[in-house]
Amino acid sequence: MAPNLPPFANTPIDDIPKIVEEVRSTFFTQKTKPIEFRLRQLRKLYWGIVDHEAEIIEACKKDLGKSVYETQLSEIKWVENDIIFVNKNLEKWAKVEKPEDIPLTNYFMRPRIRKDPLGCVLIIGTFNFPINLTFGPLVGAIAGGNTAIVKPSEQAPASAAVMQKILAVSVDPSCYRVINGGIPETQALLAEKWDKIFFTGSANVGKIIAKAAAPTLTPVTLELGGRNPAIVTKKADIHLAARRLLWGKIFNAGQVCISQNYILVDKDVVPTLVAELKSAMADFFPNGAKESPDYGRIASNQQFSRIKKMLDNTSGKIVIGGTMDAEQRFIEPTVIEVSDPSDSLLTEESFGPLIPIMPVENLDEAIRIANSVHATPLGLYPFGSKDEVEKILTEVRSGGASVNDAWTHGVIPTLAFGGVGDSGSGSYRGRASFDCFVHRRSVTTTPRWMEKLLAVRYPPYEGKYEQY
Ligand code: NAD
Repeated sequence: MAPNLPPFANTPIDDIPKIVEEVRSTFFTQKTKPIEFRLRQLRKLYWGIVDHEAEIIEACKKDLGKSVYETQLSEIKWVENDIIFVNKNLEKWAKVEKPEDIPLTNYFMRPRIRKDPLGCVLIIGTFNFPINLTFGPLVGAIAGGNTAIVKPSEQAPASAAVMQKILAVSVDPSCYRVINGGIPETQALLAEKWDKIFFTGSANVGKIIAKAAAPTLTPVTLELGGRNPAIVTKKADIHLAARRLLWGKIFNAGQVCISQNYILVDKDVVPTLVAELKSAMADFFPNGAKESPDYGRIASNQQFSRIKKMLDNTSGKIVIGGTMDAEQRFIEPTVIEVSDPSDSLLTEESFGPLIPIMPVENLDEAIRIANSVHATPLGLYPFGSKDEVEKILTEVRSGGASVNDAWTHGVIPTLAFGGVGDSGSGSYRGRASFDCFVHRRSVTTTPRWMEKLLAVRYPPYEGKYEQY
């Protein structure tokens, strides 16, 4: 029997300053600083997730039509494994570090780097991997010794309500809280003072966050959006490219920030790639994607209409798929052959199961188009010979890249994940999650006995430089 889900309710806006004040003042009690406290909270969060697995599965199904398999892989086990990894390494990461190559003159000052918590941090999540992209950064915030407020996406309300319940029953509520709501609640949060804001979402809202953080010089980590190119040359294994890139766009119904937004393909291999994509589609969904229990749905009517509009407005030709069902928020994985690099299917992020293919004359043209669509995409997916791949990696910037694959670099738990330029700044996951939420504080201690040696630094300076 499906579990009952807790109801989603916006946190009353008038309550927000009081909740933030409580969580902020807890930080100054020093409660979150001992490593043992952090480890205990992480373990409690882990068991909170384990205890609510059935509700998470139900919530992700309700919000995104997500299969149990995808929810286990990309939400539950994802965060659980992150916690295990952080738990295993936290003591080591939190240790005071010695800098390299200390000059002899400074050796006795014991130069060192402490990893101090930032303070009270705000984490704003998005809807596509609602648990993973909200609890993931929270793991880093707890590990770093901070207090935190988490604002899940209102576009995945069932998951947001389950996260609120999990935090309320598992971790210390004076340190970590969920505030639920949409734009007004987020604006109310942004009006408060923070020691860091960690934001995942669109570039447009990322700018709003950065602006709100500027007057108080609050540091931000921005995990932003895609328009990621895949490039397939004549020398690529087209069969593999088709299967892997199709997977990249059917997982979570294409609502993956690092999935390829479009594929630039050598014109000579376009027919082979389309045929291979057709055959992969038939393998993955023998009864069609709509009938498959493995294929998800678009998160909201708003997202559905946005993706539909992109498809309605393209000058390209649909060569695979194209069916939709508004009631179910179903969009079939759809391959579109596009000939104009200014087509909105390339220049806008679909964040859905659309796979535009654009034929190119050669690799140089592919690189030129990729660089003109988005100077700094979040992901890059080169398929070709070793030399071609190297040329693509060298000439096209991106937050991360997976060679001969779709977004694998984003699933490796120990590899830092983040964008560059306007796909984001800062990174997290694995050790990077800890680093993201601490201040590396340089400290020295000057012993009394050094005073004689240090006399050289005091005025009068006359003749001292020569002595030195
Ligand atoms: P969004 O920017 O609309 O919303 C993200 C969060 O911001 C939500 O919690 C929302 O409540 C809040 N928000 C929205 N408008 C706001 C406003 N005017 N003022 C203050 N807060 C506001 O993004 P989305 O539609 O939820 O997500 C899609 C985007 O997120 C895509 O561009 C996708 O590529 C990106 N994304 C990036 C990553 C990453 O790790 N880099 C991961 C997932 C999604």
